[in-house]
Order: sequence, then C-alpha cells, then structure tokens
Amino acid sequence: MSATIQDKKGVILIVDDTPINIQILSKTLSKEYDVRIATNGKKALEIANAEDKPDLILLDVMMPEMDGYEVCKELKENTLTADIPVIFVSAKSEVEDEAKGFSLGGVDYIAKPFHLVIVKARVQTHLRLRKQAKLLEEYAFLDPLTQISNRRKFDAQLGVEWGRAIRSKTPISLCMVDIDYFKLYNDALGHGEGDVCLQQVATTIHKHSARGGELAARYGGEEFMIMLPNCDAQEAYQSAKNIRQAVESLEMPHPSSSVSPFVSVSVGCASVYPSESAISVKEFIKLTDDALYRAKESGRNRVAT
Ligand code: GH3
Ligand code: MG
Ligand code: MG
Repeated sequence: MSATIQDKKGVILIVDDTPINIQILSKTLSKEYDVRIATNGKKALEIANAEDKPDLILLDVMMPEMDGYEVCKELKENTLTADIPVIFVSAKSEVEDEAKGFSLGGVDYIAKPFHLVIVKARVQTHLRLRKQAKLLEEYAFLDPLTQISNRRKFDAQLGVEWGRAIRSKTPISLCMVDIDYFKLYNDALGHGEGDVCLQQVATTIHKHSARGGELAARYGGEEFMIMLPNCDAQEAYQSAKNIRQAVESLEMPHPSSSVSPFVSVSVGCASVYPSESAISVKEFIKLTDDALYRAKESGRNRVAT
C-alpha cells in the first residue's frame, strides 16, 4: 500500500483567474507533477472533491465571484478536502493578508510576482510533508502481522459509518470472528505457524469484505471485526456464513480441535438501524460480542446472531 503513495506523481491543482499565471506555473511544475488547473473558485472546489484528489493546491487570492480565502474556507470545512495543503499565491502581500491566509488553514503564502525557484522549493517541501503524513496515517491504521486494518481504523471508521447510517436511516451490521481453539493450535504447531494461520484467516476475511464501504479489521489477538454498512440482519448472516465456510475451506489442519479437522471460526452477528436515541456504538459492539459468545457456547464453528 505504501508503495503506491511513494511512487505516484504528486497531483497539484493551480487556481488562478489570470491565464498567464497558470501558464507559467504549470509549464514549470508539469515537468515533475501531474498538474490540474482551475480559473475560478467553483471549478477549484469541484476538482478538489473529485475521486483522484490533488495533493496540494496553489491558490490565488483575488478572483471574481469567489476569492481564494472563501475557497480555502470551504476546503477546510469539508472532511473530504480538509487535509489537502493549500499554498496561497497572491499579490496581496500585507501582513494582514498573509495572516488571514494562515488563519484559514493555508500552510504557506507566496507573494506575487513569484520566483519560480521559490514556488518549486515550497511545493516540494509541502508535498514531502503531505506524503509523510499520509504514510504515517497508513501505518497507524494497519495491523503489521496481517496487513489488514487494525482496531484503531475500525473504531474510527465505525464512528463515521454510524453517523452516516443515522442520517440516511439505513442499517449497519457487525460480524465478530474468532478462531476456534487457537491457543491449542499454537501449542500444537508453534507460535510461528499460529502467525501464518492468522495471516491466512485475515486475508480470507478481507477478500470476503470487499463490497463498497465494508471493512475487515484485526480487532484483537485472534479476533476480527467486519463492518457492513447498509446491510441488514439477513444479509449479514449470509456474509458471516460465507466467511465461516471460506475459512474452513482453506483446510489448514488443526491437530487439536474437537470441532473440525481444520482451522475454523465462530462468528457473532448483530444488526441495527442506528438513531440518536437508540443504542450506542459501545452497546452495538457488546451485542456482537454476545452473539459470538453464543456461537462458542453452542458448539463453535458456527454463526450466531
Ligand atoms: P476459543 O475457541 O474459545 O476461542 O479458544 P481459543 O484458544 O481460541 O481462545 P483463547 O482466548 O483462550 O486463546 C487465544 C490465543 O490466541 C492465545 C494467544 O496466544 C493467541 N494469540 C493471540 N495473538 C496472537 C498472535 O499474534 N500470534 C499467535 N501465534 N497467537 C496469538
Ligand atoms: Mg479463539
Ligand atoms: Mg479470542
């Protein structure tokens, strides 16, 4: 995952209502970067909100209709674009103008007429910082052993999807997956083999959670969580059954399991239509955990709701 961030050419959005400024900047920057251009604020916001977002925005201040300050304010108020660094490029070079740019969330301020070497150097610096921040975020959300999302990512994402489900009045489901008799597996085959088993199970769960918005995460030692937004109880139950089946079909021999010759999992499912007044996220997770407990108690290698 990190390789993609490192290898990809930086995408820079240049926003200026004066064509000559755009020409000069894009001629120089397009040698090293993937350059997009906008001649007004509205277009700039459109490009910033597109799927393939810019990594950096060079933003003119004085533009008709919507000025650079307003554009920056809108970018920073939108969670989808708030992280994109904005460098103001402006002929307004009073201290107050610059200060206003910083107070609105700009990371830098370049005075016009600009010197290309300075623009290039500052662009390079902020792109490097941006790349580092993205990499750090990626690592902070990744489980090192299994290379799938970790609990921190799961908790953050569940918060986001919970809010979305309340607003859109849609259901959300969770599946908690726990490997059966995993302690005995480690005891029989060694911790190294146990790690390999965790990786295989994680990959399988991840593959079966590829629908839009779904997220599989390693939640604890040999416990995984799958979040299924916009998914009701019946669909979640079916997904859980598929996952249970897929893990057993890996046919990883488990010498000490009394429920299967192979590594198996138990799965607990819960579904809810979240609302402000109904249960909390914490209670929702508890419901899922209770369901998993029932799957274990009633014999393991099965799904319970
Ligand atoms: P149950 O069927 O009731 O879930 O039994 P269990 O043995 O799977 O559950 P228990 O919670 O008793 O044991 C979990 C084991 O998972 C104990 C621990 O050593 C192992 N484990 C946790 N994290 C890792 C890991 O990163 N690598 C390996 N190899 N083992 C781990
Ligand atoms: Mg277990
Ligand atoms: Mg466990």
